[in-house]
Amino acid sequence: MATQRHALSSKSEFESALERAYASQIDNHAGAVADYIPELTKANPDHFGMAIATAKGRIFEVGNTDIPFTIQSVSKAFVFCLALELAGPELVAERVGVEPSGDPFNAIVFDPGTNRPFNPMVNAGAIAVAGIIYEKLGKDAFAFLIDRFSDAAGNRLDLNQSVYQSEAETGHRNRAIAHLLLANDALAVPPDEALDLYFRQCSINVSAADLAWMGATFANMGTNPVTKKFAFDIAAVRSTLAVMFTCGMYDYAGHWAYDVGIPAKSGVGGGIVGVVNRQLGIASYSPRLDPKGNSVRGVGGFQVLADHFGLHAFDCTNIGSSFISSLVR
Ligand code: GLN
Repeated sequence: MATQRHALSSKSEFESALERAYASQIDNHAGAVADYIPELTKANPDHFGMAIATAKGRIFEVGNTDIPFTIQSVSKAFVFCLALELAGPELVAERVGVEPSGDPFNAIVFDPGTNRPFNPMVNAGAIAVAGIIYEKLGKDAFAFLIDRFSDAAGNRLDLNQSVYQSEAETGHRNRAIAHLLLANDALAVPPDEALDLYFRQCSINVSAADLAWMGATFANMGTNPVTKKFAFDIAAVRSTLAVMFTCGMYDYAGHWAYDVGIPAKSGVGGGIVGVVNRQLGIASYSPRLDPKGNSVRGVGGFQVLADHFGLHAFDCTNIGSSFISSLVR
C-alpha cells in the first residue's frame, strides 16, 4: 500500500527518496545470484545501486551505480523497440504476440492459436525478435544494436566477452527454443544466427546509471535527454512501453503492475529498468534474484520509490505526474 507521501520541493527530494529506497533494501540478503549461465556467478552479490534519470537531463544516484553488469533480458525491451522501427509492426506481429504468458521467462511454450511466442519479453519472443533484426541487417545487426543502446545510454557500451561465451556454450534451452521457432515459422533466418545475436545483446555491459539513462531516453520519446541524440522511434516506444507494462517482469508482471505500476523490464544479471512516461528512467542493480528471476532488492527498492512519489500509473491522487513534472525541468 502507498505510504506517506512527501512534498516534492527540490531536487534533493530525488536523493532522499533514493536513499530511503536503498536503506530499505541494503540489509535484504534474500535471493541468489543466477548460476545457470556460469559466468554470472562472478557478480558480487552485495552490490546494490539505484539511479533516477530525468527526461530533462539530470541524474540522481545511490550506491553502486557505476558497476558494469550484463543487461540480459532488459535488452529485450530495447531490441523489440528497434525491431518495430526496422521491420514495422505488421512483420513483427507475424512473428511474436503481445500477450502476457504467465510462464517463466525460459518456458518452452507458444500461443496455441498462432504457434508464435506469447510476447517479446520472454526468451522465445526475444529470440524471434533477434531473428527479425538479423533478417533485416545480417552481419551488421549487432553493431546496430550496440550503437543504438549506446546512443540511448549516452555512453559507449561494450560486449562482455566472457558472459557471451559462457551463455553461447551453455544456452541449450535457448537453442531448443530457436529451432522450435523455425519449425513454427516464427523465424526466417538460421537459428544459430538469431541465437548468436540474442546471446550478444544479452551480454552488453551496462551500469545502473546507463540503464537509468536508457529508461529516460524512452521517457523522452526516444531521444537521449542530454546528448539529444535519436535512439528510438517514437511510435515504437509507445508500443514497447505497453508490452513492458504487461509482460516486462516475466510471471511477476501482474504483481508488479499491481504494486509498482510502471512499465519495466528486468534481467538475470540483476538489473531492472522502469519508465515514468515523459518524466523518468529509473534503474536498479543488485544481482540476488528471486525464484522468478527478478532482482530482490530491485523489486523492493522500486516499490518504495513508487509509493514515495505516487508513480503508479493508476495512482488515484496522480501525485506522480503533476509533482514530478514540476521537478524535472
Ligand atoms: N540471456 C538470458 C537467457 O536467455 C536472459 C534471461 C533473463 O535475463 N531473464 O537465459
